[in-house]
Formats: sequence, structure tokens, C-alpha cells
Amino acid sequence: MAINESEFNFPEAELVKQTEICKNCKNIVVGKGDIHSKILFVGEGPGKNEDEQGFPFVGAAGKNLDKLLANVGLNLENIYVANILKCRPPENRNPSPEEIKLHTPWLIKQIREMKPLVVCSLGNYATKFFMANGEVEKMDDQLGITTLHGRVKEMDFMGVKIRLIPLFHPAAIIYNQRLMPLWNVDMEIVKKETSGL
Ligand code: URA
Repeated sequence: MAINESEFNFPEAELVKQTEICKNCKNIVVGKGDIHSKILFVGEGPGKNEDEQGFPFVGAAGKNLDKLLANVGLNLENIYVANILKCRPPENRNPSPEEIKLHTPWLIKQIREMKPLVVCSLGNYATKFFMANGEVEKMDDQLGITTLHGRVKEMDFMGVKIRLIPLFHPAAIIYNQRLMPLWNVDMEIVKKETSGL
């Protein structure tokens, strides 16, 4: 059972609690940053450090994300960060469709409350989730991040009008430095789309 499980008593959290990964995680990882911001970054799911500390993107990928965001003047005072999954899958394996189905109602609730104008999806899973309009069965039919990164898509996501900007996952950039020039071009787009928000 997660340490902070009893803090969350609403239907979307109950769905998360039903999953095996929630029974085996240390913390439910909800989000961090400015909840009143109009800019939301969405990652895949907590890793070991996130699970231990209870916050998203606090490990190596998170440190890289902080650095990459600072280059364009973004930080936790002007964005909010959340994940598709609220609990860490063991060995950081990929999320299963069933886990995505049970964890994303909470993300959708966050989006409906926050009403972001710009959503930056980090990596394949987050991008496919938005591109499929939240329909998990349709995620496999979507193009991947290698094709979609940096392409702005205006959409009505679950009743919230957003501009989706798919980005490479900051962990991928650590492993593959050749993505860095592409990331820099994409961040110019993020800068333009978020200026004045
Ligand atoms: N990777 C993610 O996608 N999310 C986190 O919170 C940490 C690493």
C-alpha cells in the first residue's frame, strides 16, 4: 500500500488503488509545480526516485528536464508536471493498457480542473494517449514520437481545448544525445506557444 494512499478519496483515485502497481508502490505520485499554470507537461510514470519521494521527475530524467526547461525560461513556478501513471511499474516496465485505463481518469480530472492551454506530452505513451483522445484502445494506431515531436495539434481533449505539443522524453535525450538538436528546435515551438501564458 502506498504511504500517502489515504490522502486520496475520490473515484478516480479508487481506480488507481485497484491496480497491482499501486499495491506495490511507496507513494502515489500526483504532480508538482503551479496548478494554476496554463502549461502542463505529462510524462509516462514514476521511476524509483519519484516513487520514493512522491513527486514526478525528481530523478535523472527530471534533472535533465529542469535543465532543458530552464533554457527556455520555464520552471516549476510557471508549469505543472504530471504523469499518465500515478504509481511506479516494477522495474520501470512499460505501462499496460489496463493500467493506463485505470490511471488516466485521474489525469483527465487534473486536466479538467486545471484547464491548460498548452499540453506538452513527453515520450511515446503520453503522446499516444492524447493523440488517441484518451481512448486507450486507439493508442496503438497512433504515430510515434519520432514522427510527431514538435508538431502542434489543436484539439478538444475531454472538453478542454488544448494545444498539444509532443516532445521527446527527457530520459531518451540522456541516452541519445543526437536527439538534442531536435529537442532544441521543438523547444523554440514551446517557447512561442507558451509566451504570454
Ligand atoms: N519519467 C516519467 O515519465 N515521469 C516521471 O515522473 C519520472 C520519469
